[in-house]
Amino acid sequence: MSDKVEIEARELVKSFAGIRALDHVDIAVPRGELCGVVGADGAGKTTLLRCIAGLYRADGGSVLPGRKGRNEVGFSPQGFHMYPDLTVNENIEFFGSVYGLDKKTLSERSDELLHFADLTEHRNRLAGNLSGGMQQKLTLACSVLHRPPILLLDEPTTGVDPISRREFWRLIEVLHTAGTTIMLASAYFDEVERCQHVVFLHEGRVLADGTVDHLTPGGMDLETAFRNRMSEDAILPGKVGFTR
Ligand code: ATP
Repeated sequence: MSDKVEIEARELVKSFAGIRALDHVDIAVPRGELCGVVGADGAGKTTLLRCIAGLYRADGGSVLPGRKGRNEVGFSPQGFHMYPDLTVNENIEFFGSVYGLDKKTLSERSDELLHFADLTEHRNRLAGNLSGGMQQKLTLACSVLHRPPILLLDEPTTGVDPISRREFWRLIEVLHTAGTTIMLASAYFDEVERCQHVVFLHEGRVLADGTVDHLTPGGMDLETAFRNRMSEDAILPGKVGFTR
């Protein structure tokens, strides 16, 4: 991991029709880090990832990579966004063409990613007929076809069974070990606990961020630490926790 910051939000603000989805968010993620953003439904996780990916224009503050760096980012959205009536192969070919990969490169990457995601034997099945876990792996494979240095994963294992979840995490760890900077949004504390850097997001605000050890003094579990921060936040509105 290097010290170069690869994902950054400074005083980031985003609202939707009067709803403040992100409220002066500050985050810095160095190159090669695996960062987990945890928060309840509606905390602002998707909005944060979409601003970082350049899919939303921020109302205030700044964000990296943002709109100028869209090609550097692989974005794996929440839910299943592949074409259900196309096969696994055809989905990969489609996304490869969107990224402008030539035929030879696409064929090589496709073989490599099918192997990586353990989908080779399913390559001719319709994507809509895959299990939930396989669909998530296909989404992940398509999001890294252009070999982005930054990967954003929006609740990638929601609704996925525990075995597939473990398998999915193996893939995240392979990408992390290869040097990809990863930001993963999740509502699962046990999932973000595996990250080097954890951000507590609540009602569009960063309550705290740091390593799991920093966030859980005295061996408290991460969920309790989060709830404590929420209680402090309710007493002192706008209070932001320590940074590393
Ligand atoms: P979830 O896990 O339920 O997806 P989240 O943490 O990803 O939640 P966001 O989807 O970012 O949260 O939503 C943050 C807030 O912004 C919520 O109050 C949501 O209703 C609102 N919001 C998000 N997108 C839009 C939109 N396109 N139009 C209006 N409101 C929106």
